[in-house]
Amino acid sequence: MVKQRTLSIIKPDATRRGLTDAINEKIENGGLKIIARKDITLTQEQAGKFYEVHKERPFYGELVDSMIVAPVVVQVLEGEDAVTKYRNIMGDTDPANAAPGTIRAEFAESKGANSVHGSDSAENAMNEILFFFKEEELAD
Ligand code: ATP
Ligand code: MG
Repeated sequence: MVKQRTLSIIKPDATRRGLTDAINEKIENGGLKIIARKDITLTQEQAGKFYEVHKERPFYGELVDSMIVAPVVVQVLEGEDAVTKYRNIMGDTDPANAAPGTIRAEFAESKGANSVHGSDSAENAMNEILFFFKEEELAD
């Protein structure tokens, strides 16, 4: 199988509660390698642009606001079938529907404050990675 990369964001609700290390342990135990990391606070403009695909959805404003209230941890994850693998490690968007043992089942507070983001396709993963990282920051 081919190695793939995906983008993870540990969201403000989780960094605020000191959950970064616990979340990264789940990522690594799930078989993904963290190959790049940036601890940053997103601007409204960055968050708005990152989530632009959702701009017609009713929760867009709330979503953008929730991403800028505290630092986030943006990471590139690498491994076999990384996009799907990470979505399985995260669990369902709504923590009430997330499988036991997943990040969202254990840590998410609500659909909005759901602790992590993960790319939803290989193509989006590539674009999202390049939104935050330069090629030379990703060398193996
Ligand atoms: P993400 O893209 O953050 O990994 P996802 O792919 O599981 O999450 P999306 O449908 O892409 O879910 O929604 C993006 C984000 O918008 C969700 O992670 C969640 O924080 C927020 N969101 C989605 N649906 C709702 C909702 N009904 N109410 C409030 N926030 C929501
Ligand atoms: Mg999504």
